[in-house]
Amino acid sequence: MQTVHSIKQLRQIIRSWQQAEEKVGFVPTMGNLHQGHLSLVQKAKKCTDRVVVSIFVNPTQFGAGEDFSSYPRTDLEDQNKLYNAQVDVLFLPEKEEIYFTDASTEITVRGLSDSHCGTTRNGHFTGVATIVCKLFNIVQPDRAFFGKKDFQQLLVIRRMVRDLNIPVTIEAVPTMREADGLAMSSRNGYLTPEQTAQAPKLFQALQSARDAILVGNEKYTEIEQQQINWLRQFGFQPDYFSICHSDNLKPAKTSDTRLVIITAAILGKTRLIDNLDFIKA
Ligand code: AMP
Repeated sequence: MQTVHSIKQLRQIIRSWQQAEEKVGFVPTMGNLHQGHLSLVQKAKKCTDRVVVSIFVNPTQFGAGEDFSSYPRTDLEDQNKLYNAQVDVLFLPEKEEIYFTDASTEITVRGLSDSHCGTTRNGHFTGVATIVCKLFNIVQPDRAFFGKKDFQQLLVIRRMVRDLNIPVTIEAVPTMREADGLAMSSRNGYLTPEQTAQAPKLFQALQSARDAILVGNEKYTEIEQQQINWLRQFGFQPDYFSICHSDNLKPAKTSDTRLVIITAAILGKTRLIDNLDFIKA
């Protein structure tokens, strides 16, 4: 595996692959890699000839007062994991390589970016869409791999790619969980042992809501409120808990069949997100 810091060098390598008609897979990350990230890498390895992983803690997707400066940075461990996973290139740029100091272009995916996490994390999805678009232009992958864990992000990226005719196929990868159901996340490391024991309740709430819908309960607002109240008993401060259409995150109608239940809740100092998508027959 080669670790590359400059766009110029990365492009030289990728050009040589493209000349050999090799398909390029791309996995963008912010590092502090866990099994969830590595499942994206494994999928990329299966689907493409060459795999590029980027690690870049993107400042523009963090709001004021969020955890940009404390976000875990574990480059050496990450490098070892990617080497063992037989990644071809790790792209590890400095901020200066990515952003011009007088940059004046941003990408905003209107509508989809405004609800749920976009409400509390103002500007977050503009930061995400802009960096992902830039990385797509830098890497020019055939396929890019994103986790369903960040379901709203996945929809924002898909919409951006569609609207801007970006020639890349977006692949969604299922959420990797701990044995107790907690979705793996770099932010789980912020939890105290007591909070770690409570955290799986977020997924349990999603499962209970899904089960209620699958046995025919159509009172979606009541189901949402019940689960919010249940989570509060265990010290969560739920930000939202919403039953939505899984194509657009609009509140689900009882006639909708493609559903996702999406939630964010603060536990101690940590903001956890999770979701569960399913088909209602
Ligand atoms: P991050 O480093 O948190 O920006 O995540 C990089 C990519 O890994 C994104 O596409 C995430 O959705 C994905 N990801 C994060 N956690 C998981 C997980 N537990 N299972 C699957 N994919 C994940």
